[in-house]
Amino acid sequence: MNHVPHSDTGHGAVATDRRGGGQPVPVKHTIYWRETETVEPGPPLDGDVRCDVVVVGGGYTGMWTAYQLKQAEPSMDIHVVEADYAGSGASGHGDGFVTPTIGHNLAAFVNAFGIDRAKVAYSLVGRSILELDRFCRQHGIDAQLEPNGYFQVATNASQMRWLERDIAMIEQMGARAPKLLDRAAMARRIGSPEIIGGMEISGALVNPHRLVRGLSRAVRAAGIHVHERTPATEVIRGVGGGHVVRTPGGTVTADKMLLATNAHQHQFPEFRREVKPLWSYAAVSEPLTDRQLAQVDWAGREGFVEALNFIVFARLTAGNRLLVGGGPAPYHYGRDMDDRHMRNLSAATVLRQTLARYFPVWKDVRFTHVYGGCLDMTRDFVPHVGTLGDGVFFAHGYCGNGVALTHTIGKALRDLMLDRETAYSTMPFIGGPRKTYPAEPLAYLGVRAQNLVLSLQDRFPGLLAGR
Ligand SMILES: Cc1cc2nc3c(=O)[nH]c(=O)nc-3n(C[C@H](O)[C@H](O)[C@H](O)COP(=O)(O)OP(=O)(O)OC[C@H]3O[C@@H](n4cnc5c(N)ncnc54)[C@H](O)[C@@H]3O)c2cc1C
Repeated sequence: MNHVPHSDTGHGAVATDRRGGGQPVPVKHTIYWRETETVEPGPPLDGDVRCDVVVVGGGYTGMWTAYQLKQAEPSMDIHVVEADYAGSGASGHGDGFVTPTIGHNLAAFVNAFGIDRAKVAYSLVGRSILELDRFCRQHGIDAQLEPNGYFQVATNASQMRWLERDIAMIEQMGARAPKLLDRAAMARRIGSPEIIGGMEISGALVNPHRLVRGLSRAVRAAGIHVHERTPATEVIRGVGGGHVVRTPGGTVTADKMLLATNAHQHQFPEFRREVKPLWSYAAVSEPLTDRQLAQVDWAGREGFVEALNFIVFARLTAGNRLLVGGGPAPYHYGRDMDDRHMRNLSAATVLRQTLARYFPVWKDVRFTHVYGGCLDMTRDFVPHVGTLGDGVFFAHGYCGNGVALTHTIGKALRDLMLDRETAYSTMPFIGGPRKTYPAEPLAYLGVRAQNLVLSLQDRFPGLLAGR
């Protein structure tokens, strides 16, 4: 079993950005968000523990599930083991778009499960978006949450058709469908000459690191034990009436176990072929000055996502840095998630070009951080959530959309563990068939081929149908 602690290590400043004159700024290949709140990891597990539930992985999935369970059954004894610190994985690392999307995109989900079941699942995730805001206010978490929705935008006619199709699906779901905004209407919301249309979607922007750290405090305050710097080195299912998690400092034995390690989930033989870690990159600028901010109409500060297979997106942070992300999503042979891939010069170039494309007036804005992280992609582009049938539960396959969905899935896992049949525990993707990837080298070759087709669809939208 290979656990991968990923606190920022020796991938600091390796280059400088000299654009726009003035002093060159160092470019770090470390996660920007981590600089917004320092972390003192808690003590590791020391000794042997017997409890009701053990959770492996202290990200949003593990902690939302632990929290929801404890709310439902206050007497339950719950232990979370986390290899590094709570939130050190994708949860504290993402780009902070709080979206209702389940899996890779709406169309893939509707194709897989049909309109009616998609409607129920999407409404539950919509509720989670509202509840996240409420949770932060209730627990005094300053997650820099801006509940202002975001735009799905188009830069060519083919993408406009994708937006029209998504709007038609939302109408079929009986939900209030967004209007398709034309170039002029979009220009009033986001002053980019590249954008020819868009639709506004309910959601929010958040600082993911502050959210997950705040969540970890709330989880502890609720009486849940979180053991940081505690990697599960071995997981033994169903020994002597309990599941055992071995760690360097001791063991946790529990009646029920949740495996919630996201892109690391392939470390467990049961899921070896289910999750493919795809690298996704972001670049963050130095804070924009008032003069720079005044150059672009963007009063509502909504994030936006371009409707592509390999989405690209941009948002402002609370401190008015510009974050641009997405583009190519490389996969490295053998599910290689090594930190050296945090630095990727071709991804940095694509993000620089993306910035210049959307906002030519900001083309000389300097990046201070360019970094990557691993998405947990599934072959069917939908999450895999359920139980192995013996008191072992799992959730992975968020495909890059997990901030709100992990909250919803936390409730689903709660209900599954408590053996309750609810709208959450019967969401369409729960307990369903789980498509798998072939073994290497076929997995690698297959991903390369798939990525090639998807990127060609993005580059030649008129010729090849996509999404
Ligand atoms: C670059 C990037 C950008 C993203 N942007 C967005 C976005 O803008 N909006 C959005 O909705 N979603 C986004 N996502 C997806 C979202 O962040 C994830 O879906 C979500 O954080 C998943 O939470 P999790 O708890 O399942 O996983 P994680 O947060 O990855 O938690 C898993 C934890 O398991 C731990 N672990 C691994 N192995 C072991 C072991 N053996 N023992 C103990 N612990 C272990 C890890 O250290 C980690 O902390 C993004 C993801 C990435 C990578």
